[in-house]
Amino acid sequence: MSSSAHEVVNGGVSFWYADDGLPAVREPLAGDADADVVIVGGGYTGLWTAYYLKKADPGLRITLLEQRFCGYGASGRNGGWLYNGIAGRDRYAALHGRDAAVRLQRAMNDTVGEVVRVTEAEGIDADVHRGGVLEVARTPAQLARLKDFHAHELAYGEQDRELYGARETAGRVRVAGAVGSSWTPHGARVHPVKLVKGLAAVVEALGVEIRESTPVTEIHAGRAVTPYGTVRAPYVLRCTEGFTAALKGEKRTWLPMNSSMIATEPLTDAQWASVGWDGRETLGDMAHAYMYAQRTADGRIALGGRGVPYRYGSRTDHDGRTQPATVEALREILVRFFPALAGVRIAHAWSGVLGVPRDWCATVTLDRSRGLGWAGGYVGSGVATANLAGRTLCDLVRLDSGAAGPTELTGLPWVGHKVRRWEPEPLRWLGVQGMYATYRAADRRETERHSAGSSRLARIADRVAGR
Ligand SMILES: Cc1cc2nc3c(=O)[nH]c(=O)nc-3n(C[C@H](O)[C@H](O)[C@H](O)COP(=O)(O)OP(=O)(O)OC[C@H]3O[C@@H](n4cnc5c(N)ncnc54)[C@H](O)[C@@H]3O)c2cc1C
Repeated sequence: MSSSAHEVVNGGVSFWYADDGLPAVREPLAGDADADVVIVGGGYTGLWTAYYLKKADPGLRITLLEQRFCGYGASGRNGGWLYNGIAGRDRYAALHGRDAAVRLQRAMNDTVGEVVRVTEAEGIDADVHRGGVLEVARTPAQLARLKDFHAHELAYGEQDRELYGARETAGRVRVAGAVGSSWTPHGARVHPVKLVKGLAAVVEALGVEIRESTPVTEIHAGRAVTPYGTVRAPYVLRCTEGFTAALKGEKRTWLPMNSSMIATEPLTDAQWASVGWDGRETLGDMAHAYMYAQRTADGRIALGGRGVPYRYGSRTDHDGRTQPATVEALREILVRFFPALAGVRIAHAWSGVLGVPRDWCATVTLDRSRGLGWAGGYVGSGVATANLAGRTLCDLVRLDSGAAGPTELTGLPWVGHKVRRWEPEPLRWLGVQGMYATYRAADRRETERHSAGSSRLARIADRVAGR
């Protein structure tokens, strides 16, 4: 029996909250206040920034303002791939030279270890398993892309990456029709909500004032405005990723792109025997409309991909509800990958928003003349990148305030990057819908034709996307 959409819990923010419980919401802001630093947004970016600032200077008065509760956004909904990918690296190589991009990549490699180190040091149990990342190819065109990708990553200094044929791939995870894969050790599986909840608790214990149910409506130099009062501070840091478009003046800054996920019920031992996956690598593929998945600590498969990619006017979802058609599309991917799981019940489905800049490059910036900072635009690679961003924002604030000098992080090429804004509607909506329809068509064509070249359609979509 296949699961029909009505049996599936849809939304409730995410499966991870169904698993670990929704948090008790902290008190909102109780009137005007002053601070040394105000942080807007309680996802990984805001929390890591608060963490490193407070560690560097325990006396700093930091207020973090969160519209709902910490982890309400992508940080409480993601696929739990803690890995070394960063959006925009190749563009940074073109703009700043290869050495600069290699430094950025090395910083990302180290970031995976840094997150694991802090979870251990602070006693955050986030179901971390360091199994690396396995990316599989299932068609000749995907295999050609996989080999290019593999060579490209080696050239960025990942000498520990391995390329596998069909047999070695099946020895790790038995993905139907897999013809090859590329594995890197620079990745770990995490439980996103256990990480974000743990981090919020640690940050609060360090003395950061966290105010929840407190939406910031406007950000200006020196102040963040909310319905309950204004917090004044020399530094105001915007860490709102996919929700940024809702802030006054930011509608066309980063496009909120949807990604949706499903989680199966726990698989039986016999089902796991048919799948393999003993190394608990995070798993992805080389399709244009790619998938990503993890084996959860309680023995489920959580799998994601693009849902309806973008809602007109930069709207976001309601507490993670996704469309039934998306749930079915993800279930089909699951069964295509693992035909023996055709009867497995889908327990939960949800979606969230990513922030996508016009040039698809993640950035971290402090405008030193106004004390305004921001970090994000991570596209789909923010779990680790948010930590690097948090450490970098911390260093930028300390540099600007004279508390410390420049660091290796303040010199990375993604610092201070400027990007043009997205087109106004309806062009924005039409462009994104067209781009994803084209990626799906390119995947279908590559599967049907069994040719080794990437479909021209996908290259056209890349150009439209501005990648
Ligand atoms: C379904 C899905 C799967 C993903 N899978 C992966 C993955 O496996 N690996 C990976 O590396 N990345 C993944 N990502 C991306 C990753 O989760 C994000 O890049 C990362 O969590 C971003 O963290 P953040 O703190 O910048 O943003 P968010 O986690 O979105 O946090 C922003 C916070 O700001 C708050 N906020 C927004 N506006 C305001 C306001 N005006 N006032 C006050 N508060 C506000 C929000 O409520 C939210 O809590 C995925 C994303 C999604 C949606």
